[in-house]
Amino acid sequence: MDARGDSDWIEPRQRIQELTELIAEYSRHYHELDDPLIPDAEYDLLVNELLALEQRYPKWRLDDSPTAKVGGHPRPELGTLRFTQPVLSLSNVHTPLEVREFWDRTQPLGSSHAVVAELKIDGLSIVASYRRGRLTRAATRGDGLVGELVTANAQAIASLPLALTEAVDVDVRGEVYLPRSEFERLNQARAEANLPLFANPRNAAAGSLRQLDPEITRSRHLSVYFYEIRQGFDVLSSHHQALAQMGAWGLPVEPHWRRCQTLDELFEYIERWRERRGELDFDTDGLVFKVDLLAEQRRLGSTQKVPRWATAYKFPPEEALTVVRDIRLTVGRTGVLTPTAELDPVRLAGTQVSRASLHNQDILSDLDVRIGDSVFVRKAGEIIPEVVRVEKALRPETSRPFIYPVACPVCGARVERASGEKAYRCTAGMSCPAQLRESIIHFGSRAAMDIEGLGERTVDLLLERRFVADVADLYRLTAADLESLPRFGALSAKNLVQAIEASKSRPLARLLIGLGIPLVGEKVAEVLARAFGSLDALSQANEEQLLTIDEVGPGIAQAVVAFFEQERNLKVIESLRQAGVNFFQPESGTGPGDRFEGEVVVITGTLGALNRKTAESKVLAEGGRIVSSVSSKTTLVVAGRDAGSKLDRARELGVRVINEEEFLLRLSAD
Ligand code: NAD
Repeated sequence: MDARGDSDWIEPRQRIQELTELIAEYSRHYHELDDPLIPDAEYDLLVNELLALEQRYPKWRLDDSPTAKVGGHPRPELGTLRFTQPVLSLSNVHTPLEVREFWDRTQPLGSSHAVVAELKIDGLSIVASYRRGRLTRAATRGDGLVGELVTANAQAIASLPLALTEAVDVDVRGEVYLPRSEFERLNQARAEANLPLFANPRNAAAGSLRQLDPEITRSRHLSVYFYEIRQGFDVLSSHHQALAQMGAWGLPVEPHWRRCQTLDELFEYIERWRERRGELDFDTDGLVFKVDLLAEQRRLGSTQKVPRWATAYKFPPEEALTVVRDIRLTVGRTGVLTPTAELDPVRLAGTQVSRASLHNQDILSDLDVRIGDSVFVRKAGEIIPEVVRVEKALRPETSRPFIYPVACPVCGARVERASGEKAYRCTAGMSCPAQLRESIIHFGSRAAMDIEGLGERTVDLLLERRFVADVADLYRLTAADLESLPRFGALSAKNLVQAIEASKSRPLARLLIGLGIPLVGEKVAEVLARAFGSLDALSQANEEQLLTIDEVGPGIAQAVVAFFEQERNLKVIESLRQAGVNFFQPESGTGPGDRFEGEVVVITGTLGALNRKTAESKVLAEGGRIVSSVSSKTTLVVAGRDAGSKLDRARELGVRVINEEEFLLRLSAD
């Protein structure tokens, strides 16, 4: 990506480390939170850069390299399923040359070759198990080894049959997707309800399937296509027979697949779908090529991450021409001004686009985008489209270059560009309403203090009413304050107050993320929290001390010291302390506030030392969830005396059971 001299031996090693961390973080947002931070094409570039470096310098490849991993960690509260055979991802090809190489590489010696080409449905993988023809279980791909159990949610997908036409025992794999028409309907409804919009149908599908409540899944109108028999029914010899067989069992199979016996046929298929993919009612980011003969598939085998007998051909990003009506600047949490082009709506890769990113002032002036210009926009990674170039021949004579403001468009404070930085920033800090708004939203976000119910709309209302002037004010809010806000009932007010209260016990690393110290993301926050143990110790550290930590470079060290020198930050920290917010990091993985993090707990039988209500509230305070009946989603059962049918059910399902003594020990664990 950038020019790094070979003579400098430390550089590739550092870059490998940096890329490994960065990719892990992007991947977590994409696969686990269904909320991508960067476009796919940009992500793929980073992965390819890492792959190339790892091949060249294998000794510096890290054990947890994302190049060997599939997907993200499963969401434990959904319940998990360990696969007997890993559920793999796919390798990618982009150019005709790479397609030809795939064809040649997979061609058997001395016998004829056939490759089945299919549309690549942009959704979320699902593995469904049918026993005697009845659906018994469905799981997402998860990290490829352990999936999330989503049986009840799968049952809420209308096109997924609960019973097959034959009483067979099979595991089949397919893709759950959200039809484009449904995606637009869903986002429209979310816009009206002031909820954050889904970036694309894939994220919407993943978010809709990975729900704790199947009724939410049902309301999203997901669909499914199946494309592989994973286990069972071993009588077939080719992939195209498997597709036909699944169809005969009543499983929906995408009908546009083609068995190609020559490379020319494969190229024809590529051409056809490159032009026609906009006609489909689902998003497709490419095609999938699979060696047809199952014996050949077995011969070719798989790597840890992908089969060698299949690959995904990714389409080049689509472009469209439209007119820039306005250029708007938004101010982010750290004051960065981001220019966005407001466009005449245009259809692009299946969705209506009316806005495109111009990234920063350098890009804006390099492209020389002006109001009234005709521009090409592209959806590279489907998050927010970007302006690629201006069609100068169509430029109106009256147009003038866009002048970057010298004052913040929100608060009017001076705008500045620090040396070496691309971005211009508003210098007003938290006195700028836009920065204050974004920092409160960030404080409550999932990666930080995880305050459920503190969405953008609520933050806007709190600011409008002047209930909060900094993040510490959140802890002064009462149920009565919240009830006075529009659309807040007694229950939602009580829930938000409880969620704010629960956030007080988050470990220090989360608080550090929430405080928004420049350059301190999730990884660095964790490292700092572990190294210093408490907020007070960190706030007193000087640059030298910070630099003794491996992962901390001069930039981070300076940013941390500068943060704790600012009067305003110290004031907020004091208010947080008075509010009773936890300033410590637990020694091991668990400690105050997260001892039951991610657990779905059933308490049954009679407890001696604690009454049931107290035990339940302790689990809640430690990040767990309480449910009343044992299901495959339950992760832990606390069994007191005379525990009855719930204990039996837990044993039947293999759910972990602990007694009261073990429960008390865990509650007091460091
Ligand atoms: P992938 O989406 O590139 O391809 C594999 C998947 O394709 C399979 O798991 C399967 O679910 C699906 N698929 C759809 N139709 C299929 C068919 N007919 N046959 C077989 N499989 C079919 O790989 P992935 O591992 O799911 O995800 C990696 C991709 O996700 C990368 O291309 C990357 O761009 C993107 N990603 C983006 C970010 C980001 O921050 N933007 C982060 C992580 C991953």
